[in-house]
Amino acid sequence: MKFDALVIGAGPGGYTLAAGLAAEGLRTAIVEKSLPGGTCLNRGCIPTKTLCASGDAPWAEAMQHVRDITDTLRGDVRAALSGVEFIEGEAALLPERKVRVGENVYSAERIYIATGSAPASLPISGAELAIDSNEFLKLETLPQRVAIIGAGVIGLEFASILADKGVDVTVLEYCKEILPPADKDVAKRLRSILKRRGIAFLTGVTVNAIHPGFAVDYEDRKGISTLDTDLVIMAVGRRPVVPEGCAETDVELTPRGFIKVDPSTMATSAEGIYALGDCNGLCMLAHAAEAQARILLGKNVNMQAMPSVVFTHPACAWVGPTEESLEADGQAFISGKALYAGNGKALADGASEGFVKVLADPDSRRILAVHILGEDADALIGEATLAVALGADIDTLASYVIHPHPTLTELLATACGNCR
Ligand code: FAD
Ligand code: NAD
Repeated sequence: MKFDALVIGAGPGGYTLAAGLAAEGLRTAIVEKSLPGGTCLNRGCIPTKTLCASGDAPWAEAMQHVRDITDTLRGDVRAALSGVEFIEGEAALLPERKVRVGENVYSAERIYIATGSAPASLPISGAELAIDSNEFLKLETLPQRVAIIGAGVIGLEFASILADKGVDVTVLEYCKEILPPADKDVAKRLRSILKRRGIAFLTGVTVNAIHPGFAVDYEDRKGISTLDTDLVIMAVGRRPVVPEGCAETDVELTPRGFIKVDPSTMATSAEGIYALGDCNGLCMLAHAAEAQARILLGKNVNMQAMPSVVFTHPACAWVGPTEESLEADGQAFISGKALYAGNGKALADGASEGFVKVLADPDSRRILAVHILGEDADALIGEATLAVALGADIDTLASYVIHPHPTLTELLATACGNCR
């Protein structure tokens, strides 16, 4: 069977693209080996955010809520794909822009690979005893003590969820500070808030081994120690998933195994074959995969203003570079902060912890970055992203634009006004 376009993988990248191509009138197929919605809907964003919002509700109740919400959203994805031929099975690339799924071979004018990523593991003794994020989301009960290896996004969100449920959590992180890509002020303050919530952190440590019975050997400057626990979760990053047949079809991979693409077009090294989302390694976020789909649909997308959110309690979020990376690039900047403790709505909400920090260019006064730690950081980053994407300056947000009172959005205006 021949299609105009064939998409492999029905995660946020693949289904956004397939629905868009079909809406343009192209004869489009999508191949999925598991459930529509991909990692994000079935094993990632949506289940974990449902758990983040479940507070101290019993685990079984929270997991039932996860199943209800993901069932509903899978229905929405299927509806969005109503004009697309949905092919169940695992796709392998064949030469001459053909794809094999089981016994069937399909050909297409263009092939789009959106096969996502999977949890990575450490090459240490006993690594197989640890569970990953997929297995975490299948737990039927929670143990009393949990060790999490990796204080990245997944490690911290899981730590926050488990702490809400009364579990004793210890997070082991290789770097000196948690959440390496975040602004250092944000990471340090978040660590101290989470510590007060009872989460223990061992930073600057190397995990050497996991023993049966869940004893974790780790090493720091003081020597080798053992942490006794009831369950170990590995959250040390993700590896690309690529379809079989890349080598035979001249689809080049990067040294880390991602599909190599031109970041402005998502074109691979093979003519007529494109790759988007986690599998190309440009940015492993659901909204980045969707944005890349929009690029492939010919839309104008500002990929420089890519927001990130970590859904801990409190949450943190950012858009644009950190102070550290601007300094490393020798780029001058001015900065301004606003504290939640000085905002009426934050005090009224009993959420006085945190801050908004704005970094701006000293000459043009253009907003370069915004870093937020505190309640509703996930919502506040929307306006900040708009400001960065449209090249707004600090005076626009501090004065020209009116922010409703009393709201947390005033924090952004105050931080812009405080830039020196
Ligand atoms: P995926 O969503 O991984 O989808 C790929 C699909 O391809 C899968 O359904 C897979 O079954 C299918 N597939 C793979 N190989 C084949 C093949 N050969 N044939 C057929 N089908 C195939 N991102 C956020 O932005 N916000 C969050 O809050 C967030 N939370 C997360 C929490 C967790 C625990 C995890 C693990 C990830 C989270 N992410 C989050 C990241 C987000 O899930 C991914 O960035 C996003 O799902 C990537 O979309 P994608 O379309 O590239 O791939
Ligand atoms: P990550 O890259 O965010 O964090 C991995 C952490 O593990 C890092 O802090 C790293 O220093 C640490 N680490 C690596 N090796 C280690 C070792 N040997 N010992 C101890 N620590 C070690 O990866 P992740 O948390 O697994 O998340 C994977 C991806 O999923 C991320 O790229 C993220 O973009 C995406 N995700 C996003 C969200 C969100 O947007 N809210 C939520 C979850 C996941």
